Amino acid sequence: MDQNVIAQDKLYIGGEWRRGRGADITSNFPADGSHNATLPGASLEDVDLAIERAQDAVNDPAWRKLLPHERATYLYRIAESIARHADRISHVQSRDTGKTLSETRALAMSASGTFRYMAAALETMEDTLTPPRGNYLTMSVYEPLGVTAGITPWNSPIASDAQKVAPALAAGNAILLKPSSWSPLVCLELARVIEEAGLPKGLFSTLPGAGSIVGERIVTHKAIKKVSFTGGTATGRDIARKAAGKLMPVSLELGGKSPTIVFADADLDLAVAGVMFGIFSSTGQSCIAGSRLFVERSIYDAFVAKLVAATERLKVGHPFEATTQVAPLIRPKHRDEVEDHVAKARADGGKVLTGGERPTGSDYKDGTYYRPTIIAGLGNDSRLCREEVFGPVLAVLPFDNEGDLIRQSNDNDYGLASGIYTRDFPKAWRIARSLDTGTVWINTYKQFSISTPFGGTKDSGVGREKGRDGIRAWMAQKSVYCDLSQAPHPWAKSAL
Ligand code: NDP
Repeated sequence: MDQNVIAQDKLYIGGEWRRGRGADITSNFPADGSHNATLPGASLEDVDLAIERAQDAVNDPAWRKLLPHERATYLYRIAESIARHADRISHVQSRDTGKTLSETRALAMSASGTFRYMAAALETMEDTLTPPRGNYLTMSVYEPLGVTAGITPWNSPIASDAQKVAPALAAGNAILLKPSSWSPLVCLELARVIEEAGLPKGLFSTLPGAGSIVGERIVTHKAIKKVSFTGGTATGRDIARKAAGKLMPVSLELGGKSPTIVFADADLDLAVAGVMFGIFSSTGQSCIAGSRLFVERSIYDAFVAKLVAATERLKVGHPFEATTQVAPLIRPKHRDEVEDHVAKARADGGKVLTGGERPTGSDYKDGTYYRPTIIAGLGNDSRLCREEVFGPVLAVLPFDNEGDLIRQSNDNDYGLASGIYTRDFPKAWRIARSLDTGTVWINTYKQFSISTPFGGTKDSGVGREKGRDGIRAWMAQKSVYCDLSQAPHPWAKSAL
């Protein structure tokens, strides 16, 4: 094992570092295929142990009786600890996922911000006094659910982990985190900072291991009171079915096939930059990737030519190079899948305007690199416009008018995000309100704020994360009626 990549090959279970008793998980560096680490993953016994410890911890008065501002101090400390170790977290995440250091550093700082925000939201969260219909006081209060779980994908681990762990703890729960088997290392760094912050043992465990074994046990275990899942739509559907069997609430952040729209009156430099950032940053491995581009027909040829020229100037390179814009894909199997989507698009009559191949040269020979790719000539009903590629592949299509645009944009199973480029604000507002997506960006893309709720519609999921209400999504609502009359109920009076 490369000691520079992970400190030890143990998992954080029930507040202790233990050797996992499940199958080994191997992490390689996508830039050159070198070995990062092999980690014994969690077993079913490990899951059960984590749940047992979590039940004890969440019911312990030392945690259960904390007032919100007291609980918040742990989250503030975790936020500080992540920021203090951001360079190390970023390094491990770049080794694990192949993402650029600048991106993984930003993700670490975003995770820190998530803990800080949730701490502040917790301190200022209020229960509600509701209007009574009689001589009594009525209140709606929020209480922890108990032992909860987060299941996350490989593309932005520390940030998506924080979006589950921070609100779950803020709500007073315990949480088990199951990361993707493709990015098992970052969760150990999160465990280290949580331990450093002094969170009571047992409230947080991290369980890397196969989704079909470890993930399935977590979802179906009767002690788990909520699962928040981010990942593919098929997996999300499967989890929702199992959750329905035990009537457990789930939050599902799933895939996307997001439309980006460029009107003829747009600032074209701004639009080209935004379109490229929307699809090619993170090498397209983003649920919100703007992967279907609709361009108003009057500027279609000129805009696409400008976009292709700019795309060819993007720097494909090593994740540790400061100038790199497009880093390798997560692993060879995933590149094979991306290549398969491009081959199918070609077979369907698509014209590859740029990319559609691996870059050549000694710098690229051992890494899972793929060139940013733009494909024209396919209809909105083509496989390329329907299936999530999760790679740097953009489909471009013309549109004739607003009606045609809305029809095509919304004619898709997914509904996660969208982008609009125009100088006409009333038009942008009109289109934004007509798009069936959870988020709309106007003259920008992939901008995020922890205070703004995020989630999808249709096959992109159910539920919202982030925002002040993000904590309440991890709580049980309880109504309390308190009679003020201090008199026996009139219905029973005659019997007294
Ligand atoms: P998967 O759905 O394959 O996996 C996501 C997580 O679920 C992993 O931890 C995986 O574990 C686990 N898992 C797999 N099968 C099960 C199961 N039966 N029960 C419980 N857990 C299971 O997605 P990917 O990892 O391939 O991630 C990419 C997908 O995530 C894309 O579709 C993307 O759009 C989506 N995504 C959505 C986001 C959003 O916010 N809407 C954000 C980021 C990504 P294991 O790795 O061991 O299989």
